[in-house]
Amino acid sequence: RHRAAAATWTGPAALADGHAVSLLANVQDGDGAEAAGAGPAAGIGLFRTELAFLDRADEPTHAEQVALYARVLGAFPDSRVVTRTLDAGSDKPLAFAGMTEEDNPALGVRGIRVDLLDRGLLDRQLDALAAAGRQVGGAQSSPWVMAPMVATVDEARDFADRCRSRGLTPGIMVEVPSVAVAVDRFLPHVDFLSVGTNDLTQYVMAADRMSPDLAALTDPWQPAVLRLIRTVADAARRAPDGRSIPAGVCGEAAADPDLACVLLGLGVTSLSVATAALPHVGAALAGVTLEQCREFARIALDSDTARDARDAVRAARG
Ligand code: PEP
Ligand code: MG
Repeated sequence: RHRAAAATWTGPAALADGHAVSLLANVQDGDGAEAAGAGPAAGIGLFRTELAFLDRADEPTHAEQVALYARVLGAFPDSRVVTRTLDAGSDKPLAFAGMTEEDNPALGVRGIRVDLLDRGLLDRQLDALAAAGRQVGGAQSSPWVMAPMVATVDEARDFADRCRSRGLTPGIMVEVPSVAVAVDRFLPHVDFLSVGTNDLTQYVMAADRMSPDLAALTDPWQPAVLRLIRTVADAARRAPDGRSIPAGVCGEAAADPDLACVLLGLGVTSLSVATAALPHVGAALAGVTLEQCREFARIALDSDTARDARDAVRAARG
């Protein structure tokens, strides 16, 4: 039944009770962005810029970066496109980022921490993104940009300052547990949050996301992970100064149709998934109400294990 619904779903994303859902695409290059733009995605929730440059020995030039970013922004001229700054390191080594061999790369210099080796790399990327935004103009004149692997308020504030001075709209990924636990302290500095469930799960469960032996641990249905997502969504909805800050999910968790319903029930404001997963998620969402999603979230949070949570929500969704 679910598969048949996915085959005919064409968007836009909404729940059975009419609630609109911001269902976005994860992309990694211009082709992917344009493919997403031709489909039912409402925008791009995660543009993994490092993947566009994995094969490069040298840092891409300003002109090359502007051309790529303008193409991706231009795929959705009127809606949200979230570009992530280079997430070099660990499973995504970038030859030009100056990284060295490390014993524990997942706990080493990666994401925003590349600043420790070379602040210029991020500044040049932000310059190029700002230029691309000016080039595309309209809704893209102040592009949304987020930093990966932020762990401290200092990092968030410094990143946001560097974005705002260039006319960019700053956000951070929530993928290090320190951010989720103390999320209220980060909110005053940023305009949006995006939960990266792949790394958040890896770090909460102390289990390498690349290890097939640990798949049962690196499972975003883990109740501890779901609790942290609820903490983030609750805090973002009641941000300081009466603001309500968008808090989406861009990890693989959002591409699991059952878990996507749970995430909305937990209060996340957008889901960003691989373009190929959009119909499955969109069709699942069309079959449930917000009240049902909230019930699924309660069921999942009330479970002791990832398997119990998944089984119970599946049974409830039918
Ligand atoms: C994540 O960690 O969930 C995420 C979206 O980023 P990546 O998978 O690129 O590390
Ligand atoms: Mg990540």
